[in-house]
Amino acid sequence: MHGLIEQLTGAGVAVTDGAWGTQLQDRGLETGACPDGWNLQHPERVEEVARAYVEAGSDVILTNTFGANRFLLARHGLEEKTAEINRAGVEISRRAAGGRARVFASIGPSGIMLMMGDVSPEQLQEAFAEQARALAEAGADAIVVETMSDPAEARLAVAAAKETGLPVVGCMVFDSGKDHDRTMMGTTPEQAAEALTAAGADCIGSNCGQGIEGFVGICRRLRAATDRPIWIKANAGLPKVIGGRTVFSQTPEKFAASVPDLVQAGAAFIGGCCGTTPEFIKAVKEALVP
Ligand SMILES: [Zn+2]
Repeated sequence: MHGLIEQLTGAGVAVTDGAWGTQLQDRGLETGACPDGWNLQHPERVEEVARAYVEAGSDVILTNTFGANRFLLARHGLEEKTAEINRAGVEISRRAAGGRARVFASIGPSGIMLMMGDVSPEQLQEAFAEQARALAEAGADAIVVETMSDPAEARLAVAAAKETGLPVVGCMVFDSGKDHDRTMMGTTPEQAAEALTAAGADCIGSNCGQGIEGFVGICRRLRAATDRPIWIKANAGLPKVIGGRTVFSQTPEKFAASVPDLVQAGAAFIGGCCGTTPEFIKAVKEALVP
């Protein structure tokens, strides 16, 4: 096991952070705007989100770089700032952490459908490598490849991240199938664990796509399919659209009530995804106190 991962999970479950997107929206990020661009435009608001998670007790915080790959940034005319936006994202989280939390830098999907053939696998891997290099140069402790639906894309992103020499977490989103145990591409937890382990991921996980109750079974299946530590970040229940806004209505208490089941199922890292807030992280932390 990678030394840092061992250090974080050796004494029990490590707590990660909660959502960033919904937190940035609460601070004025408009629908359709580029969240990652805020690292340059509104670094103080991004740092406020990161700091709130550190203060809530996160052992690990991520970075506001989920969509900071060249392809997604091009949609906002920001592709020439790819390295700068990623570096700024790590610098913001490191400032907020102040040595109290580790910074795991986020890499999300590219927005490219490989099977459409517009971009070659080599070009896609190079775009992830460009992002990963900037994250590593800025001092990230690890890289998290997250919210992946396509195992082929996830493999390329993990392989690109591994080139930095940092530990890499590989996560997929299970939001499809009648039991919510498949990715949009039909991938099962067993297939995901196999693909991500083969790509060299140091931790295997799942984030987003459903509420925490659904993650207990996913976690157990991932645990059985790989020898790597398991990383889980669940949503605050299923979203409802109210007045044109997506609202997640689960309470921190209800969320934290599933934490013992997740620990039992083998989770080594636990945190939140869409709709979760620093209050959720506080509640998770309290649920883990023996
Ligand atoms: Zn999410």
